[in-house]
Amino acid sequence: MSEKQWGLCKNCKWWQIEPGAAIEDDTTGLCIDEDLQPYKLLVSGASGCNRFSAGTPARAEGSASKPPTAKAVR
Ligand code: SF4
Repeated sequence: MSEKQWGLCKNCKWWQIEPGAAIEDDTTGLCIDEDLQPYKLLVSGASGCNRFSAGTPARAEGSASKPPTAKAVR
């Protein structure tokens, strides 16, 4: 199952970054995986986990604030 495949945040559809942010290793964004949303995890493009799902990142203002203020957009 793709949900059990480990992968990088920068290649994951659950990574949500600022509207103008570059997709880079050192860019930080919010993880919007449904089970991880309650933790408001800020993760870098070079971070990763086994809830990875291949795709392009979502974008929303406040995704990289500390703490993140953006709502999940998917
Ligand atoms: S922490 Fe895992 S689920 Fe969240 S964006 Fe990174 S790879 Fe995707």
